[in-house]
Parts: sequence; structure tokens; C-alpha cells
Amino acid sequence: MTLWRNIEVKSGDNLSAIFSKVGLSDQDLFRVLNSSDEAKVLNQVYPGYQLDFLIPVNVDGDGELEQLRLLKSPLEGFLFTLNNNNYDVESILNFPQLRPTFKVGTIADSLFMAGQREQIPAVTIMEMANIFGGVIDFILDPRAGDDFSILYDEKYLDGEFIGHGDILATQYTNQGKTFTAVRYIDEEGEAGYYNAEGESMRKAFLRSPLDVFRISSNFNPSRRHPILNTIRAHKGTDYAAPRGTPIRATSDGQVTRASRNGSFGNLVIVKHAGGFETKYAHLSKYANGVKKGKRVRQGDIIGYVGTTGSATGPHLHYEFLMGGVHQNPRTIIDKLPKAKSIDPAEMDSFHTQTVDLLKRFSDMNSTTFITLNQPSAD
Ligand SMILES: [Zn+2]
Repeated sequence: MTLWRNIEVKSGDNLSAIFSKVGLSDQDLFRVLNSSDEAKVLNQVYPGYQLDFLIPVNVDGDGELEQLRLLKSPLEGFLFTLNNNNYDVESILNFPQLRPTFKVGTIADSLFMAGQREQIPAVTIMEMANIFGGVIDFILDPRAGDDFSILYDEKYLDGEFIGHGDILATQYTNQGKTFTAVRYIDEEGEAGYYNAEGESMRKAFLRSPLDVFRISSNFNPSRRHPILNTIRAHKGTDYAAPRGTPIRATSDGQVTRASRNGSFGNLVIVKHAGGFETKYAHLSKYANGVKKGKRVRQGDIIGYVGTTGSATGPHLHYEFLMGGVHQNPRTIIDKLPKAKSIDPAEMDSFHTQTVDLLKRFSDMNSTTFITLNQPSAD
């Protein structure tokens, strides 16, 4: 009788122990290991990998390892097959079946909770927030009644769900204003998100220096310290957030200061191309390696929310300067030069790839939201 024995590698497992578990000796192991260069991959098995053994048993009850399958993931691995006392090796490459999945949500409390209610995977909600990070400040902008929809792939292999894929198209309506983004793989093979006109969703500046998902899920900024959300005489935007919440650089640039400065407390200043500067104050501490001269990329963590300087509660004081003059980051970003759009020469390719998708997405949205908005019978 022949049966596959499937072993999932657990933390602390080693190959020798796994081989002995299925009744094989160290000699058996060495025979596979020495059979080919590819077999060296067996020296690096990690928790989560799967090892499948095929050991047909002869009439005497003895078995010899006939096939060994190493799966790094359901999609990728190696198959070793006994051949004249040696093992031939072939790689395994499976292609998942993609099933587009459409989900909608409405904000009642937080984006996080809305995603949970609709059973949208957290990674997918986070990806949506990242896609719109240049047009929506997910800390300050969301309001109860905002709605969103996401069309994303789920991956299946032999009918079995194996993971979440990319967002294909997504839409967020914030305070009545709708943003739509569609995935497009450009002529360089790079995937990005664009609006229907081919303008990139990736902007020079992130709307929010805080990542909504780095704020603990039970923290609701709209319910707390509403007074902090206004632009005050001190020319900054204050983001109430728990101490230790990571702060990210809103654009690429160079740190020109990471030190204490009076009422600002621990202060980071980043200089950006085009005469822009951003300031981040009251930090509890700086991120590792953040000091004067350090280059940072958009989204890099530069420090953590605190109360240093004159701050009554933990919050981030954020300033945005243009040519040395304070600007309201909530309105100035709209006045900045337009983000990079798809080259006119590439627009045909963009339309070919996205027109049907956007049409399908728009149909799904209108069907769903009409149903949602129909008056109920009672
Ligand atoms: Zn402030």
C-alpha cells in the first residue's frame, strides 16, 4: 500500500527528526541531500513548509523513500523522485486560480471595524488605505456614512482557498466625494493604482503622518479630543493618538533635525524637494537611525507619538511649510502640482487593461448601493 505522509514543519523541527518520524534513517536523509544541488534547499526548511513522503512498503514491511515533495507554499516547491539509487529533482510551480471578490462597507465607527463587519481581510483594508493615502487622511477625514467597495482576488488551488491576492479596483466615498482607483501594470511591468483618467494615486505627500492601522483598533480619533483636530494659532495639525504610535515621513526627503526644541519637545524636521518641509513634534522617541542628514522615504517610520515639550496629552503636532511659510497641510496638498500621470503614449495600453474592469466594477457598485439604499419594508 502506498500513501503520502504529509508533515508540516513546526518551529524547532529539524530534518533528521522529521525523517525519523516517518520511519526513515539519517542515511536516507543523506542520500536525498547529496543527490543534487537543488536538494540543498532541504537544509533550509522553515516553519510552515510542508514535506510529503511517499514510502511504498514491500511484502517484508520495509519501505524505501520513493518520492519526497517539499512545498515552500502551496504554489512553490520541489519534487525528488528515486531513480536508480539516486534522486531526480524537478521544481513544482503551481498557478493559483484567481476569483475576484467584491465587498462593500460603510463607516459607522472606524475603517477597521467596517472591514471586520464585512469580513474583508485586514491586509486588503490596509492595502485600500494605502492606495488612497495620498488623497484621504484616514485619521481625520472619515465620517460615519462614508462607504467603500473593493474588488480583489482570492487565490484558490484545486478548489481550496490559499490566500488573498491584489486589489483590482477600489472606491471610497469620503464626505460625499468619491475616489476610484484601478490597478494597472505599466509597460515596465510595474503595478500601480490610478484613477480612471490615468493619474497615479501615489502622491508626493501622504495625507496623514499616522497610519490608521498603527493606531490601536479601539482608539477612535473622531470621538476623542475633537479640539485637537483644528488648525490653531501654532500653525500645525494635531493628531491625538496613543503614546508610541509610529509616525511616518509624509514624503521622501532628508532629516535636517532630530533633537529637542523647547515647547516642541523631541522634534523631527524633514526637508523635501521643491522647497517643502515637514515637522513632527512632541515625539516620545526617534525611530532607530533617524538623525540629522538621514535620507527617508515616504512612509518610513521616523519616530513615535509622545508628550515631550508642551503637550497636555499624547499627540503628534504636524507642520507643513512651503518656502519657509506655514501652510495648512489639509488644503495645500490639493494645490500642489498634479501627480505623475500615465504617459500619453501609454494611454491606449492603460485603457485596454482597465476599461472592462472599471465598467464591471462600476456595475457592481451601482447594483449593490442601489440595493443598500432601497427603503426597507418595515
Ligand atoms: Zn500642536
